[in-house]
Amino acid sequence: MAQTATTTACSYCGGNGYVQLLLGGSETCYGCQGTGSEQEEDGEH
Ligand SMILES: [Zn+2]
Repeated sequence: MAQTATTTACSYCGGNGYVQLLLGGSETCYGCQGTGSEQEEDGEH
């Protein structure tokens, strides 16, 4: 498994930063806040 970078494409929006609404239109992704990258929780490693 090749990991290119520490940032991972958001699983909710696929890295788009927004999600398509069923009723139409789009909304800022709630998973990444529009960044398109899955955020990692800050914690002690
Ligand atoms: Zn997202």
